[in-house]
Order: sequence, then C-alpha cells, then structure tokens
Amino acid sequence: MTSKLLTILTALTLLSPGTAAQLNSRAWTIVGADLADGSGRALRRANVRFVGDRVVSVGTGAPERGDTVIDGAGLVVAPGFIDIHNHSAEELASDPEAATQVAQGITTVVVGPDGGSPWPIGEYLAERRRNPAAVNVAAFAGHATIRRLVLGDDFKRVARADEVARMATLVDQAMREGALGLSSGLEYEVGGYAETSELVELSKVAARYGGVYMSHIRDEADKSFEALREAIEIGERAHVPVQISHIKLGTVGVWHKAAEAIAIVEAARKRGVDVTADEYPYNAWSSTITVLVPDKRYDYPPSVEKALADVGGAANVLIVRHAAHPEYEFRTLDAVAKDRKTTPVELFIQIVRDGGAGVVCTSMVDDDMRAFYRQPWVMVASDGGIGVRHPRGAGTFPRVLGRYVRDERWLPLPEAIRKMTSAPAERLKFARRGRIVAGAIADIVLFNARTIVDRSTFSEPGILPTGMEKVFVGGELVWDIGKPVAARPGKVLVRAR
Ligand SMILES: [Zn+2]
Repeated sequence: MTSKLLTILTALTLLSPGTAAQLNSRAWTIVGADLADGSGRALRRANVRFVGDRVVSVGTGAPERGDTVIDGAGLVVAPGFIDIHNHSAEELASDPEAATQVAQGITTVVVGPDGGSPWPIGEYLAERRRNPAAVNVAAFAGHATIRRLVLGDDFKRVARADEVARMATLVDQAMREGALGLSSGLEYEVGGYAETSELVELSKVAARYGGVYMSHIRDEADKSFEALREAIEIGERAHVPVQISHIKLGTVGVWHKAAEAIAIVEAARKRGVDVTADEYPYNAWSSTITVLVPDKRYDYPPSVEKALADVGGAANVLIVRHAAHPEYEFRTLDAVAKDRKTTPVELFIQIVRDGGAGVVCTSMVDDDMRAFYRQPWVMVASDGGIGVRHPRGAGTFPRVLGRYVRDERWLPLPEAIRKMTSAPAERLKFARRGRIVAGAIADIVLFNARTIVDRSTFSEPGILPTGMEKVFVGGELVWDIGKPVAARPGKVLVRAR
C-alpha cells in the first residue's frame, strides 16, 4: 500500500466509523464487563463496542467481524476519569506519555488551577494540539497569572479600577481562546491581595462565555467558613458557577465541622447559586511552607507558633522540597529542628528566609473527608499531576476506588465513578464525555474493582497504582495492563456551545 493511499484510508477511518470497521482496525468490543456508565446508576453487565473515537453500541450486541475483542469478565468498564484540578500544564510537553496519570484511569487533565495558568491560553492550547499527549487537556485561566501581567511586581496591594479593567480584558481574551473559566488561589502570594470585588468583576467576564469560577479559597483553616462564603458571594454577584477546589478543613480549630461547611454550600444551592466542589482523598496537603501562616507574618514567631499548633504540631509538617538544604527533604520540621538543636519556629523562619520549601502537612481528619465525599456535589479531583511530589499525583483515583469505595465503603462504586466522570464533564460542558452511551467519545477505562489501589507514598510519590487494565483515549489504547502504550491521541477540550 502506498503511503498516500494509507493516508487517505486513515483519514476515512477518522471520518466514518463504518469505514473503520471495514478496515478491521480501531474497532473494539469489550465483552462481559460490569458497566458503570458514569450516570451513577447501578452496575449492569453490558458489551461496549467502539469504533474510531466513538462508542457505537452499549448492551447485548455481539462483537462484529474484525473487532478486537476484550474479555471484560470480572472487570468494570467506565468512562475515562476527568481530573478537574491537575497541575500537569508544563509536564505534558516533557512527559506526554503521562504514565502516572493514565495508570489511574485519567483520560482528561484540566490544568491552570489555583490561580496559576499558562499564558496566553490560546498559544498553550495550540502547542498541545501540535504535540498531543496521551491524555486530553483543557485549561483554566489563572487569576494570579493575569494579575501579575497587569500589576507586575507591585502586586501586594488592592488593584485600582483601571487595573481591574485591564485584567478583565485579559480574562476576555483567555475565554475567547478556549479557557474553561477563571481559577483563583486566594491563599497564595499574588491572588491573596485581591479584594472580593476584583474577583467578582473578573468572574463576570468568565460568566459571559459560560465559564466557571474555580477557587482555591482564601482560607482552608480557622476561617474556612468565611472563605467558603466569599466564594459563594462571588458566584452570586457575578452569576457564575463556582467550583470550590479541594474542599477541606485543614486546622485543629475546624476539624469535625464538615456539617457546617456542607450546610453553607447547601443553603447557597437552595437559593440558586450553582456551587460544586472537588476533593482529593488524602488527609495531608502539599503546598509551600508559607501557606501554613495565614497572616503572612512568616518571620514573626507568635504567628509561626500558632500555625504549627493549628496543624497539630511540627511533627505533622514533612519537608519535601528545599533547595537550600536538600538534606531536609522527606524529614519532618520537628525532626530537623531537633537535629539542629533549634526550635521548629526558628527553623521555619530560617527555611522561609532561605527561599521557602515544599511541605506535606497532615492536617485533616477522615470523618470530614468522608462527609464531603458523600455529598452529590463533591467530585473527585487529584490536585496532583505529572511529577507532583505528593502521592495524590499518581494515586488519587485508584485510592478512592480501592480504599474508600471497596475497603471503607464510604460510597457506592457507581456514585464514585459519577464523581470522576459525568459530574466534571457536565461542570465543564464537555460534550459527549463522562458517560458511556452510543455516540459518546470513546474515553474508556477497564479496571479490576477487587484489586485497584494506589501505591504511591509521601517518600515515593511516583509509584504507579495497580488494577487499571486498559485505558482508551478517543478510542485509542494508551494503557495496557501495567504499562503505557506509545499513543498520543489526547485532544484539546473546550466548552460546548
Ligand atoms: Zn490549591
């Protein structure tokens, strides 16, 4: 066959499922698996046939001649997982195979969370189209990214009206270029100086395009409830759907108060504010060490002292990255302080002076995590990504399915799958994704519900999970029993109109 003819045939394959079937390629039937179709309905036995990038039948249909048949007996077939909070924006270029992501069953990563995003969005997405990864990608525009473009280094202040107007122009540009909405990180340096009204004005722009305001809210500690109310207020004033990122109660003072947080969100939803959230399945967060001190007085011992007490002490703070002293890495603040015959407070202050550090901080309780996951408006998201030095980077989705669905019975499997698939797909207006029905895009996972589990740890965050048998992105196999396949079918996803 000449290469020209091959090109033409390949083109036909993409255009027409019928043609693909005749070519005996790119047609698959998974037979006899238990289907979790993404809707949350109970599992049912069904054959799933897909040709090219589309699901063509779901039910009792037998494989057709030429199909590649997969025996799904004893396995669960589900839509590919959509990770609505993922930090792989840059790494998709250096690691397009994205093994740590597809091994979890992630078929779409949504990048640009927490206020930080690539810029310009249009160029970033064009680059992803030119050099696709194994997974699909979509992007939020970062509020801090935009604020920095307008304010430069002079960001430690409230923005003037003309500056907010310039930021709004940039949000408008990002939305026209394909952003899903505006993300903010109000617990971080640049975003933290923004007033509520600035976020309202910018969210209004995202809302005009049907976008979402997604926020790492201003406080996840003692002032969690105020911060939640602020996010809801932004939704209400800007008429924008709100996604609360990685909902949590991260200090001793708010532990066991999930019911209070849930009541705040439920009340808003009842009066018509469109609020949803996502959560990662770990009782420890990973961020920069400065996040521990909400009043940002990093060199003021009483502030640092309270910060450490709030998370239950310096033994709960694990240093995972500190360029000035790599020998501190993977040791607790408490242990390093003892070694150096100093106090944790003094060590903290020194670390910040030496350039700061990445830390993992055990600061949540399981009963709050469980209460949030049991809310229908809470999705599963990783807050991880390729190369993230937290086990959630390689473990989130199998951890939920293995530990919290199978072992702890926090929630039923079909509901957990819904939180990983149709819930984020609907939130982000991804057409034909998040469900397995005829006509859907064939982002599909096949896993063993009896064995699936995460294996990544805080000291070895990159260890891949087990139990994921096969992963298809747009009908192409990208993961096959324990290893990636060298395929890069990932697309750029944008909002449906
Ligand atoms: Zn965050």
